[in-house]
Amino acid sequence: MLDSLKNNLRDAIKKIVKSSGIDEELIKELSKDVQRALLQSDVNVRLVLEITKQLEARSLNETPPPGLSRKDHIVKILYDELAKMLGKETDFDFKPGKQNKLIMLGIQGSGKTTVTAKLAKFLIKQGYTVGVIGADTYRPGALVQLRTMCEKSNVEVYGEPNNKDSPDIVKNGLKHFEELPLDVIIIDTAGRHKEEKDLLAEMEQINKVTDPDLAILVIDGTIGQQCFNQAEAFHKTIPVGGIIVTKLDSSAKGGGAIAASAATGAQIMYVGTGERIDDLEKFSPTRFVGRLLGMGDIQAVLDLAKRLENEG
Ligand code: GDP
Repeated sequence: MLDSLKNNLRDAIKKIVKSSGIDEELIKELSKDVQRALLQSDVNVRLVLEITKQLEARSLNETPPPGLSRKDHIVKILYDELAKMLGKETDFDFKPGKQNKLIMLGIQGSGKTTVTAKLAKFLIKQGYTVGVIGADTYRPGALVQLRTMCEKSNVEVYGEPNNKDSPDIVKNGLKHFEELPLDVIIIDTAGRHKEEKDLLAEMEQINKVTDPDLAILVIDGTIGQQCFNQAEAFHKTIPVGGIIVTKLDSSAKGGGAIAASAATGAQIMYVGTGERIDDLEKFSPTRFVGRLLGMGDIQAVLDLAKRLENEG
């Protein structure tokens, strides 16, 4: 996952832990290395500068706590700042006694339909009752794909193969599910139209008939900075409350997803890590950074720092 970012960051850390002593020049060099690594991964320039400014200032000015060497402390600061960039861990806040409605947004090919089915199964496993509405009337096969994927987890998918009016389908679907004891209804929407403005107009209508509790933006982790504009356009139409990043198992750079998060102010909640239905993980900024740096948590990062130091 995110191999080049991982390697570049680890090389940067290696330089620090292998140095004979820490001075300003070395801290500046670390800052430059981290900048390069993040920019190559498509992280937004402004964000990169913010992080490395903090990294430099804290590395120069902070006194390490007792028991922590200066080098380890700098590694920890890097870890902290990267985790901060990714925000806080968040989860669904479903209200009991009502049908919580989620709208899935995202461009075609982002993995929206797959994520809808994955999320339905994930929530079922947590004990929620779930219904799905298939309202992508633009992409041929979207409804069949959704039904096939949801069938295995016994989730009912409401759809109307011969109706092209997706807000109408959503309205009918909500009515269909109205009397059922469902905790969550997930609505899969189209990701493409002939013109972007038609797509956004359709989302606006779906938003109106749904009155959603949460709109989730699905972002393809392999695309770069154009995520920012995409996310912004959706966000202006329906306020995005959460983000799911897909395809982090492939050659994803990941920075685009961070850009989307910045554009909407929404948190990354889950990540897709494969094509199978169970390949969905809750997103934890600290664990994610731990993985980027090659380790699970901060203790492990410090252990890694020690090991790299002793490596020949
Ligand atoms: P939609 O047009 O946004 O509904 O996209 P789909 O759900 O049809 O997904 C587009 C393609 O991406 C499909 O071939 C999926 O199997 C694939 N895909 C979706 N999520 C992931 C993921 O997390 N990892 C990988 N490797 N492929 C994914």
